[in-house]
Amino acid sequence: MSADVNPGGTTAEPTGTESSPSPVRPGRDMLELKSLVMRFGGVTALRDVNLTIKEGEIFALIGPNGAGKTTVFNVVTGVYQPTEGEVRFLGERISGVKRFKITKRGIARTFQNIRLFHNMTAIENVMVGADAHHRSGMVSVALGLPWHRKAERDGRRLAMELLDFVGISHRADDHAKNLPYGDQRRLEIARALATNPKLLLLDEPAAGMNPAEKVALQQLIRDIRDAGRTILIIEHDMSLIMGISDRIAVLDFGQKIADGLPDEVRTDPRVVEAYLGAPADAS
Ligand code: ADP
Ligand code: MG
Repeated sequence: MSADVNPGGTTAEPTGTESSPSPVRPGRDMLELKSLVMRFGGVTALRDVNLTIKEGEIFALIGPNGAGKTTVFNVVTGVYQPTEGEVRFLGERISGVKRFKITKRGIARTFQNIRLFHNMTAIENVMVGADAHHRSGMVSVALGLPWHRKAERDGRRLAMELLDFVGISHRADDHAKNLPYGDQRRLEIARALATNPKLLLLDEPAAGMNPAEKVALQQLIRDIRDAGRTILIIEHDMSLIMGISDRIAVLDFGQKIADGLPDEVRTDPRVVEAYLGAPADAS
Protein backbone atom coordinates (compact mmCIF):
# COMPACT_ATOMS: atom_id res chain seq x y z
CA MET A 1 0.00 0.00 0.00
CA SER A 2 1.24 3.47 -0.75
CA ALA A 3 1.66 5.84 2.14
CA ASP A 4 -1.61 7.65 2.66
CA VAL A 5 -1.44 11.18 3.88
CA ASN A 6 -4.10 12.42 6.26
CA PRO A 7 -5.13 16.06 6.76
CA GLY A 8 -2.40 16.65 9.30
CA GLY A 9 0.26 15.21 7.09
CA THR A 10 0.73 12.06 9.14
CA THR A 11 1.60 8.82 7.47
CA ALA A 12 -0.28 5.59 8.00
CA GLU A 13 1.39 2.53 9.46
CA PRO A 14 2.42 -0.01 6.84
CA THR A 15 -0.17 -2.74 6.73
CA GLY A 16 1.26 -4.90 3.97
CA THR A 17 4.46 -6.88 3.75
CA GLU A 18 6.55 -4.01 2.44
CA SER A 19 8.96 -2.50 4.91
CA SER A 20 8.96 1.22 5.47
CA PRO A 21 12.16 3.13 5.93
CA SER A 22 12.50 3.78 9.62
CA PRO A 23 13.14 7.40 10.59
CA VAL A 24 14.75 6.13 13.78
CA ARG A 25 18.17 7.42 14.67
CA PRO A 26 19.13 4.97 17.38
CA GLY A 27 20.69 6.44 20.42
CA ARG A 28 19.13 9.90 20.47
CA ASP A 29 17.62 10.73 23.86
CA MET A 30 13.86 10.79 23.42
CA LEU A 31 12.46 11.11 26.92
CA GLU A 32 14.36 12.22 29.99
CA LEU A 33 13.02 12.25 33.53
CA LYS A 34 15.27 14.42 35.67
CA SER A 35 15.09 14.20 39.44
CA LEU A 36 11.34 13.83 39.29
CA VAL A 37 9.43 14.17 42.53
CA MET A 38 5.64 13.93 42.65
CA ARG A 39 3.76 14.47 45.88
CA PHE A 40 0.02 14.25 46.43
CA GLY A 41 -0.55 15.82 49.83
CA GLY A 42 1.19 13.44 52.20
CA VAL A 43 1.77 10.76 49.57
CA THR A 44 5.06 10.80 47.69
CA ALA A 45 4.41 8.90 44.47
CA LEU A 46 7.80 9.60 42.83
CA ARG A 47 11.06 10.14 44.69
CA ASP A 48 13.87 11.56 42.64
CA VAL A 49 13.33 9.46 39.55
CA ASN A 50 15.92 9.74 36.78
CA LEU A 51 15.38 7.88 33.54
CA THR A 52 16.39 8.23 29.89
CA ILE A 53 14.58 6.50 27.07
CA LYS A 54 16.34 6.38 23.72
CA GLU A 55 14.68 6.77 20.37
CA GLY A 56 13.65 3.45 18.85
CA GLU A 57 13.59 1.54 22.13
CA ILE A 58 10.93 -0.60 23.66
CA PHE A 59 11.44 0.43 27.26
CA ALA A 60 9.54 -1.23 30.10
CA LEU A 61 8.60 0.29 33.43
CA ILE A 62 7.75 -2.37 35.98
CA GLY A 63 7.19 -2.62 39.71
CA PRO A 64 4.57 -3.49 42.33
CA ASN A 65 1.16 -1.86 42.44
CA GLY A 66 1.37 1.64 43.85
CA ALA A 67 5.04 1.99 42.85
CA GLY A 68 4.34 5.15 40.83
CA LYS A 69 4.33 3.79 37.27
CA THR A 70 1.08 5.39 36.13
CA THR A 71 2.11 8.59 37.86
CA VAL A 72 5.13 8.70 35.54
CA PHE A 73 2.75 8.59 32.57
CA ASN A 74 0.57 11.29 34.10
CA VAL A 75 3.55 13.56 34.63
CA VAL A 76 4.98 12.91 31.15
CA THR A 77 1.64 13.65 29.45
CA GLY A 78 1.05 16.83 31.46
CA VAL A 79 -1.83 15.56 33.60
CA TYR A 80 0.25 16.53 36.63
CA GLN A 81 2.97 19.08 37.13
CA PRO A 82 5.89 17.46 38.91
CA THR A 83 6.50 18.75 42.43
CA GLU A 84 10.20 18.87 41.62
CA GLY A 85 12.37 18.01 38.65
CA GLU A 86 11.51 18.06 34.98
CA VAL A 87 10.60 16.05 31.92
CA ARG A 88 12.42 16.61 28.64
CA PHE A 89 11.23 15.33 25.28
CA LEU A 90 13.69 15.40 22.38
CA GLY A 91 15.81 17.79 24.36
CA GLU A 92 13.05 20.26 25.24
CA ARG A 93 11.40 20.73 28.57
CA ILE A 94 7.76 19.63 28.48
CA SER A 95 6.84 19.84 32.14
CA GLY A 96 4.56 22.87 32.30
CA VAL A 97 3.43 22.46 28.69
CA LYS A 98 -0.32 21.94 28.13
CA ARG A 99 -1.56 18.42 27.54
CA PHE A 100 -2.75 18.91 23.95
CA LYS A 101 0.57 20.54 23.08
CA ILE A 102 2.42 17.55 24.49
CA THR A 103 0.23 15.35 22.29
CA LYS A 104 1.06 17.56 19.32
CA ARG A 105 4.77 17.28 20.00
CA GLY A 106 4.43 13.54 19.66
CA ILE A 107 3.49 11.72 22.86
CA ALA A 108 0.38 9.53 23.06
CA ARG A 109 -0.81 7.06 25.64
CA THR A 110 -3.28 4.36 26.49
CA PHE A 111 -4.87 4.01 29.91
CA GLN A 112 -4.64 1.34 32.57
CA ASN A 113 -8.43 1.59 32.88
CA ILE A 114 -9.65 1.64 29.30
CA ARG A 115 -11.07 5.03 28.33
CA LEU A 116 -13.10 4.67 25.17
CA PHE A 117 -16.29 6.38 24.09
CA HIS A 118 -18.44 3.34 24.68
CA ASN A 119 -21.42 4.45 22.60
CA MET A 120 -19.32 5.41 19.62
CA THR A 121 -18.15 2.93 17.03
CA ALA A 122 -14.59 1.69 16.91
CA ILE A 123 -13.76 3.82 13.87
CA GLU A 124 -15.32 6.90 15.46
CA ASN A 125 -13.15 6.39 18.53
CA VAL A 126 -10.04 6.43 16.35
CA MET A 127 -11.25 9.49 14.44
CA VAL A 128 -11.78 11.33 17.71
CA GLY A 129 -8.18 10.54 18.59
CA ALA A 130 -6.97 12.07 15.34
CA ASP A 131 -9.34 15.00 15.75
CA ALA A 132 -8.03 15.81 19.21
CA HIS A 133 -4.64 16.00 17.57
CA HIS A 134 -5.58 18.18 14.62
CA ARG A 135 -8.19 20.23 16.45
CA SER A 136 -10.36 20.48 13.37
CA GLY A 137 -13.41 21.93 15.07
CA MET A 138 -16.54 19.81 15.31
CA VAL A 139 -18.57 22.96 14.62
CA SER A 140 -17.06 23.43 11.18
CA VAL A 141 -17.50 19.74 10.53
CA ALA A 142 -21.17 20.11 11.43
CA LEU A 143 -21.49 23.02 8.99
CA GLY A 144 -20.37 20.63 6.30
CA LEU A 145 -17.77 22.92 4.77
CA PRO A 146 -16.11 21.16 1.83
CA TRP A 147 -12.67 21.25 3.41
CA HIS A 148 -14.01 19.45 6.44
CA ARG A 149 -15.89 16.94 4.37
CA LYS A 150 -12.60 16.02 2.73
CA ALA A 151 -10.84 16.05 6.08
CA GLU A 152 -13.44 13.69 7.45
CA ARG A 153 -13.08 11.35 4.50
CA ASP A 154 -9.31 11.31 4.91
CA GLY A 155 -9.68 10.88 8.66
CA ARG A 156 -11.97 7.92 8.15
CA ARG A 157 -9.53 6.30 5.77
CA LEU A 158 -6.62 6.76 8.15
CA ALA A 159 -8.73 5.42 11.03
CA MET A 160 -9.60 2.36 8.98
CA GLU A 161 -5.93 1.75 8.23
CA LEU A 162 -5.09 2.00 11.90
CA LEU A 163 -7.88 -0.43 12.83
CA ASP A 164 -6.47 -2.76 10.21
CA PHE A 165 -2.96 -2.30 11.60
CA VAL A 166 -4.05 -3.31 15.12
CA GLY A 167 -6.10 -6.18 13.69
CA ILE A 168 -9.68 -5.11 14.34
CA SER A 169 -10.86 -3.55 11.07
CA HIS A 170 -13.71 -6.07 10.96
CA ARG A 171 -15.02 -4.36 14.11
CA ALA A 172 -14.95 -0.83 12.67
CA ASP A 173 -18.68 -0.22 12.94
CA ASP A 174 -19.27 -1.98 16.27
CA HIS A 175 -19.84 0.13 19.33
CA ALA A 176 -16.73 0.17 21.51
CA LYS A 177 -18.69 -1.25 24.43
CA ASN A 178 -19.53 -4.37 22.39
CA LEU A 179 -15.92 -5.24 21.58
CA PRO A 180 -14.25 -8.06 23.48
CA TYR A 181 -11.90 -6.77 26.12
CA GLY A 182 -8.71 -7.52 24.20
CA ASP A 183 -10.07 -5.70 21.17
CA GLN A 184 -10.90 -2.66 23.30
CA ARG A 185 -7.26 -2.55 24.34
CA ARG A 186 -6.23 -2.70 20.66
CA LEU A 187 -8.70 0.04 19.86
CA GLU A 188 -7.11 2.26 22.49
CA ILE A 189 -3.76 1.68 20.81
CA ALA A 190 -5.23 2.56 17.39
CA ARG A 191 -6.69 5.76 18.83
CA ALA A 192 -3.34 6.70 20.35
CA LEU A 193 -1.59 6.01 17.02
CA ALA A 194 -4.05 8.35 15.29
CA THR A 195 -2.13 11.28 16.76
CA ASN A 196 0.99 10.00 14.97
CA PRO A 197 3.12 9.84 18.14
CA LYS A 198 6.88 9.58 18.21
CA LEU A 199 6.59 8.12 21.70
CA LEU A 200 3.76 5.77 22.68
CA LEU A 201 3.03 5.09 26.35
CA LEU A 202 1.18 1.84 27.03
CA ASP A 203 -0.25 1.37 30.54
CA GLU A 204 -0.77 -2.35 31.20
CA PRO A 205 -1.94 -3.14 27.66
CA ALA A 206 -2.03 -6.91 28.30
CA ALA A 207 -4.22 -6.67 31.39
CA GLY A 208 -7.21 -8.98 30.96
CA MET A 209 -5.88 -10.54 27.75
CA ASN A 210 -5.72 -14.28 27.21
CA PRO A 211 -2.40 -15.94 26.24
CA ALA A 212 -3.11 -15.86 22.50
CA GLU A 213 -4.03 -12.18 22.67
CA LYS A 214 -0.82 -11.49 24.58
CA VAL A 215 1.28 -13.12 21.88
CA ALA A 216 -0.47 -11.02 19.23
CA LEU A 217 0.00 -7.90 21.35
CA GLN A 218 3.72 -8.61 21.60
CA GLN A 219 3.95 -8.66 17.80
CA LEU A 220 1.83 -5.53 17.50
CA ILE A 221 4.15 -3.65 19.86
CA ARG A 222 7.15 -4.75 17.79
CA ASP A 223 5.39 -3.65 14.61
CA ILE A 224 4.69 -0.22 16.11
CA ARG A 225 8.34 0.16 17.04
CA ASP A 226 9.47 -1.09 13.62
CA ALA A 227 7.26 1.60 12.07
CA GLY A 228 9.58 4.13 13.70
CA ARG A 229 8.02 4.82 17.08
CA THR A 230 9.51 4.59 20.55
CA ILE A 231 7.59 2.69 23.20
CA LEU A 232 7.41 3.00 26.96
CA ILE A 233 5.34 0.18 28.40
CA ILE A 234 4.05 -0.54 31.89
CA GLU A 235 3.15 -4.20 32.23
CA HIS A 236 3.01 -6.93 34.85
CA ASP A 237 3.29 -9.91 32.52
CA MET A 238 6.97 -10.75 32.89
CA SER A 239 7.23 -13.13 29.95
CA LEU A 240 5.78 -10.43 27.69
CA ILE A 241 8.12 -7.80 29.13
CA MET A 242 11.20 -10.02 28.94
CA GLY A 243 10.21 -10.98 25.40
CA ILE A 244 10.00 -7.50 23.91
CA SER A 245 11.92 -5.00 26.03
CA ASP A 246 15.26 -3.52 25.07
CA ARG A 247 15.67 -2.07 28.55
CA ILE A 248 13.72 -2.17 31.79
CA ALA A 249 13.47 0.14 34.78
CA VAL A 250 11.98 -0.94 38.08
CA LEU A 251 10.10 1.34 40.44
CA ASP A 252 9.39 0.51 44.06
CA PHE A 253 7.69 2.96 46.43
CA GLY A 254 8.31 5.76 43.97
CA GLN A 255 12.01 5.06 43.66
CA LYS A 256 13.91 3.62 40.73
CA ILE A 257 15.66 0.55 42.14
CA ALA A 258 17.09 -0.81 38.89
CA ASP A 259 17.55 0.10 35.25
CA GLY A 260 19.20 -2.01 32.58
CA LEU A 261 19.03 -4.88 30.12
CA PRO A 262 16.34 -7.52 30.77
CA ASP A 263 18.86 -10.10 32.00
CA GLU A 264 20.48 -7.60 34.36
CA VAL A 265 17.16 -6.55 35.82
CA ARG A 266 15.82 -10.08 36.09
CA THR A 267 18.70 -11.16 38.29
CA ASP A 268 19.11 -7.94 40.30
CA PRO A 269 18.72 -8.91 43.97
CA ARG A 270 16.77 -5.76 44.84
CA VAL A 271 14.32 -6.37 42.02
CA VAL A 272 13.89 -10.00 42.94
CA GLU A 273 13.19 -9.02 46.52
CA ALA A 274 10.84 -6.13 45.76
CA TYR A 275 8.95 -7.50 42.82
CA LEU A 276 9.89 -10.72 41.14
CA GLY A 277 10.03 -13.15 44.04
CA ALA A 278 12.35 -16.16 44.00
CA PRO A 279 14.90 -15.97 41.15
CA ALA A 280 13.72 -19.29 39.76
CA ASP A 281 10.31 -17.70 39.14
CA ALA A 282 11.70 -14.58 37.57
CA SER A 283 10.95 -15.55 33.99
P1 ADP B 1 1.22 2.21 39.88
O1 ADP B 1 0.74 2.65 38.55
O2 ADP B 1 2.66 1.85 39.93
O3 ADP B 1 0.38 1.09 40.44
P2 ADP B 1 0.39 4.87 40.72
O4 ADP B 1 1.31 5.73 39.97
O5 ADP B 1 -0.99 4.73 40.21
O6 ADP B 1 1.05 3.41 40.91
O7 ADP B 1 0.30 5.38 42.22
C1 ADP B 1 1.44 5.63 43.00
C2 ADP B 1 1.02 6.21 44.32
O8 ADP B 1 0.54 7.52 44.12
C3 ADP B 1 -0.09 5.43 45.01
O9 ADP B 1 0.13 5.47 46.40
C4 ADP B 1 -1.32 6.22 44.63
O10 ADP B 1 -2.33 6.06 45.59
C5 ADP B 1 -0.78 7.65 44.61
N1 ADP B 1 -1.51 8.52 43.70
C6 ADP B 1 -1.53 8.47 42.36
N2 ADP B 1 -2.29 9.43 41.84
C7 ADP B 1 -2.77 10.13 42.89
C8 ADP B 1 -3.64 11.27 43.02
N3 ADP B 1 -4.14 11.89 41.96
N4 ADP B 1 -3.92 11.71 44.27
C9 ADP B 1 -3.39 11.10 45.34
N5 ADP B 1 -2.59 10.04 45.30
C10 ADP B 1 -2.27 9.55 44.09
MG1 MG C 1 -0.76 1.95 37.35
